[in-house]
Amino acid sequence: MQNRAEHKPAGEEPVTIVGAGPSGLACAIILARGGRKVEVREWKDSVGHRFHGDFQGLDNWSNSEDCLVELAASGITPEFERTPVHQTTAFDGKGKAHEIRSPRPLYYLLRRGSAPGSLDRGLLAQAEAEAVEVRFNDRVHRTHGPTILAAGPRRANVIAAGYLFETNHENGSWFSIDQNLAPGGYAYLLVHQGRGTLASCMYDNFDRQANHVQLARTFFCEKLGLEMHNERKFGGYGTWSLAQFPLQGGHPVIGEQAGFQDALAGFGLRYAMSSGILAARCLLEGHDYAAAWRREILPRLKTGIANRLIFETMGSAAHSWALRGLAGAGNDPVNRLQRLYAPQGLTRLAYPFAAWRYRKSRQQRACSQVDCNCVWCRQQRAIIPKVSTFTSQIDGTDTS
Ligand SMILES: Cc1cc2nc3c(=O)[nH]c(=O)nc-3n(C[C@H](O)[C@H](O)[C@H](O)COP(=O)(O)OP(=O)(O)OC[C@H]3O[C@@H](n4cnc5c(N)ncnc54)[C@H](O)[C@@H]3O)c2cc1C
Repeated sequence: MQNRAEHKPAGEEPVTIVGAGPSGLACAIILARGGRKVEVREWKDSVGHRFHGDFQGLDNWSNSEDCLVELAASGITPEFERTPVHQTTAFDGKGKAHEIRSPRPLYYLLRRGSAPGSLDRGLLAQAEAEAVEVRFNDRVHRTHGPTILAAGPRRANVIAAGYLFETNHENGSWFSIDQNLAPGGYAYLLVHQGRGTLASCMYDNFDRQANHVQLARTFFCEKLGLEMHNERKFGGYGTWSLAQFPLQGGHPVIGEQAGFQDALAGFGLRYAMSSGILAARCLLEGHDYAAAWRREILPRLKTGIANRLIFETMGSAAHSWALRGLAGAGNDPVNRLQRLYAPQGLTRLAYPFAAWRYRKSRQQRACSQVDCNCVWCRQQRAIIPKVSTFTSQIDGTDTS
């Protein structure tokens, strides 16, 4: 007996999307609006499962277009809580504050997780309104037919750990690039309407996570007089990598599964949604996703990786100088950041060295504690089984 799918022209076959994160849901919305039948298969029992109600920032500097305008133009309506952030305080390695203000939002503050108002719930609601079928508790091991892979990070080469809490502190956004608080990265504090997220975002020394988180907490509490109530710990991991080819088994790979994340600062949301939209458009219009990725995503990824090398090579005096430049009177920080993220002389020069330096994922020293529950140990338990069992088939024959 013939497979039912064989009677259908390829363009009408339902599309399966693996993973209901921002990349998978953005992709599903665009495909459904384009008339395709879409099924999203999600491992967990809800969207946003790997997040905890923590605040994140949707960056507004990596492209000349405002990120919400860009989403709306693609057909994604921002039906989630978001707050434009025009001002942030950046502390350098010596604890000196630099005020960065911008007429255009620097980023939009969002909440992640499964609670109402989160980005994840907003995207889910829109996908369901477009008649996308989202199947929860459905961990995919094999796929067949047209498939898009959006299953999130494969390994951890950046981690964030800290606290979620309630507070009477004023709303605001603060970060520090003191490398004692966050090796290779930055510590951040985001407060909005009585809720706060404080974390250390680390690119190195994962085995000393607890120590760095404690230092970050002490720093913000002492510097700003922050008081935290009903605090709970949270943590997560991410992947940035030099994807050589955005296809796996012939299927488009989007979002963090493909390593699409800003290597300098760990921002992956805009990449996730824009790569999902790009993959959907390519499928609808019959374009080659790999070629579109090479044109629209790869140059920014390369710049992020070059920026990471430059950041790691600079000393703390140069970090302070860079912050002073962003905060300088009369400067447009969004414009400056845009230039930082656009391929130009220094990043073009640095890229081959960065590509060599980061050719393999970083070999992090594993945590040495027995029965530990730090982010490093948790990601080892969560990711390794996921990757080793996840395979995809391209020819439509499911051999399971
Ligand atoms: C603590 C933390 C803070 C962050 N802060 C920011 C920030 O401020 N700004 C920013 O831009 N980015 C931030 N990021 C990164 C950002 O959250 C990610 O880049 C983004 O969520 C990636 O979206 P995604 O859709 O690719 O993957 P995910 O959001 O990980 O979604 C993937 C989905 O696939 C599902 N899945 C996995 N395997 C399977 C399977 N086999 N079968 C079915 N389903 C599967 C997962 O359950 C998950 O729901 C942060 C990350 C962390 C951890």
